[in-house]
Amino acid sequence: MWHKPSAIAAVLAATICSTTGTVIAAPKSKPNQIRYEYVAPKDPAHQPILDQMKQGRALEHLQELLSPLRLSYPLTLKVAGCDGAVNAWYDDEVVTVCYEMLAEILKSAPAHDLPGGLSRADTVLGPVLAVFLHETAHAVFNMLQIPVLGREEDAADQFAAYVMLRLSKDEARRMILGSAYHHAIQMPGPQVTVPIRSLAGEHSTPAQRTFNILCIAYGADKTLFADLVEKDFLPKDRAEVCAREYDDLDFAMTKLISPHIDKRLAGKFHEVWARTVSTRRAHLARQ
Ligand SMILES: [Zn+2]
Repeated sequence: MWHKPSAIAAVLAATICSTTGTVIAAPKSKPNQIRYEYVAPKDPAHQPILDQMKQGRALEHLQELLSPLRLSYPLTLKVAGCDGAVNAWYDDEVVTVCYEMLAEILKSAPAHDLPGGLSRADTVLGPVLAVFLHETAHAVFNMLQIPVLGREEDAADQFAAYVMLRLSKDEARRMILGSAYHHAIQMPGPQVTVPIRSLAGEHSTPAQRTFNILCIAYGADKTLFADLVEKDFLPKDRAEVCAREYDDLDFAMTKLISPHIDKRLAGKFHEVWARTVSTRRAHLARQ
């Protein structure tokens, strides 16, 4: 989800169009601009989620993972209670993820590991990472004034998938499938009848979001994700165009986002992930 344009756009416009005609330079962009905030939950039932996140240093790890982003202003990652709303959004330099959404992800996780090498922990870690990356994508588009062709919600999903695919092959597969699992379980079934108005939403449907992320993954690596087509999770007709879809995404990310990445810090992405996720995975496996 994305809310109103950030204050940054207004500040930039004001500095460039000042009445004196003087152009005031925007602050220089730099890495390590991610901040975080654990807001105490309003609902006592969410306290264990906060305790687990703090114990596992979840937001600190996300801060480190996203540290290569070069931004002109700090971006805060926040978890907070949302009065029952299962939601997440970006607004005014803050990404907010509701405890309600985290609770729903935990509730949706299967009791046991799944076939295909997908662990229960992956079905939690994947969607949580995807939510933070999706909202960070909105922040990046807005704060860096990235032009977006097509629907921004789809572009944010693609950004998230692309970042996941930068992990090692095994981790990329786990996070992509874990994330797709969370969308897939929201599908009503193989045949659907829905009110036509429900197709007017700004987000693609859960089924479309599942197929889209699987298509980007298959387009990026046909070998690593070959079983998606063999087992018909991704229909052959769609699979045929996925390499092109991934190439389009790769071109956009390389041209538009890569100039805003600190290459030295980005080079440590695998190392940071391996170090930070291992404790979370072990902890989730024990629950
Ligand atoms: Zn969104």
